Amino acid sequence: MGPRITKVETAFLRVPLGQRQINDSQSKVDEVEFLTVRLHTDAGVIGVGTNWSYTPGLRAAQVMIEENYAPVLIGKDVTMRKAIIQELFLTNHFVGRVGASRVGIAACEFALWDVVTKRAGVPLWHYLGAARDKVQAYSTDGGWLDWSQEDLVRDATALIERGFHAVKIKLGRKDPSEDYDRIGAVREAVGPKIRIMTDVNCAWTLNIARYWGGKLADFDVFWLEEPMVPENIKAHAELQRAIQIPVAVGETIFTKYAFRDYIEQGAVGIVQADATKLLGIDEWLEVAALAGAHDLPIVPHTNVQQKLHAQLAAATPHCPMLENCYESIKGIWVEPIDVVDGYYQLPNEPGVGLELSEDTLSKHTVATTETH
Ligand SMILES: [Mg+2]
Repeated sequence: MGPRITKVETAFLRVPLGQRQINDSQSKVDEVEFLTVRLHTDAGVIGVGTNWSYTPGLRAAQVMIEENYAPVLIGKDVTMRKAIIQELFLTNHFVGRVGASRVGIAACEFALWDVVTKRAGVPLWHYLGAARDKVQAYSTDGGWLDWSQEDLVRDATALIERGFHAVKIKLGRKDPSEDYDRIGAVREAVGPKIRIMTDVNCAWTLNIARYWGGKLADFDVFWLEEPMVPENIKAHAELQRAIQIPVAVGETIFTKYAFRDYIEQGAVGIVQADATKLLGIDEWLEVAALAGAHDLPIVPHTNVQQKLHAQLAAATPHCPMLENCYESIKGIWVEPIDVVDGYYQLPNEPGVGLELSEDTLSKHTVATTETH
C-alpha cells in the first residue's frame, strides 16, 4: 500500500500579466487565474497540482474540489490514482462532464502524480522515460491580434534574434484580408526558413477558413490553429480535405473521445492536447498514443504550464516542439523553466513541477480551502 491522503488544501489566485493587455479573436487578457491543490500524505510528502484559466471562472473548480472531490480524496491511497480519478469524475458528472469540473479534477491528478514522482526522487520526464533531453520551443508571445503590423514584425524578429525558430501569429480580425497582409509582412521580415504558425481562436466559418486558410499557403504557413469552433468536427474534416496547411486543434478539446473523432475523420493534422483540459496526465498520454498510432505529431497547447508540458513532450517521440507564451509571468513558479537558444531546458528536481512560489501565493491568493 502507498501513502494515504490526510489533508486537501486549495488556493485560488488571480495573477496580473506583467505586460500590456493581450488579445485574440475571443478574449482579452489582463490577468490569469490559478488553482493550486496540495495533497498532504501520511508519508510526509505533499503533492502539488495547479491548473489555470485565462478567462474568469476557475473559482467554480475550487468549490467543486472543496464540496465534491476533497471528501473523496481524504484517506485514499495515492497509488490508486486511476481509480481515484474515475471516482472524482462520478461525484458530480451530472453537472460537469467537461469544463470546470474536469479542470478541477486535473489539478488533483497532477498532485497525485507529484506525490509518486517525488517519492521516486525523479522529475516526471525521467519517470515516464525520455525521448529527448531538451525540447524545441516556439513562441506565441509576440503575435497578438490587436498588435499593429509594425509591433507584430518587431516582436517576431526580436524572438528570432533570441533563438526561437518558430513564431505563432493570431488571426481573426474582422477583415480576413488584414490577417493575410499581416502574415505576409511577418514572412517578409523573418525570411523563408523560420516557421510561422497561425491561430484563429475559433473565429471563422468554414467558407472563410477554406478561402483564407487556403491562401495562407502563399506564405508557407506551418499550421492553421483552431479555425472554427471545436465542437464542429465535420467542418474541420471538410477544411482539412480542402487545404494543404495542417489544421491544429486541441486546446479547447476536453476528452480523448473527441480527439479520436477528429483523428478518425481526418479533421486534424497537428494534435494540440493540453493535459490541463483533459483529466490530467494519464488521459494526455492516451491521446498522445492515439496520435502516434496515426502518425500525427502532438504539439501540446500550453500557456503557463510549460514545465509540465515540456516534460510530457520530452517523453513523447512524436512531439517535435512546444509552445512558449505568457513570458511576463513565467517567474510565478518555484524554479521556473527557461528557453535557451530556442530550447526548453528540462527540470532536474523531482516531481511534476506545478508549484507556485511562496511569493506568488502570498501576493495573489484570493480564496483558500482546507479539508481534513
Ligand atoms: Mg491557440
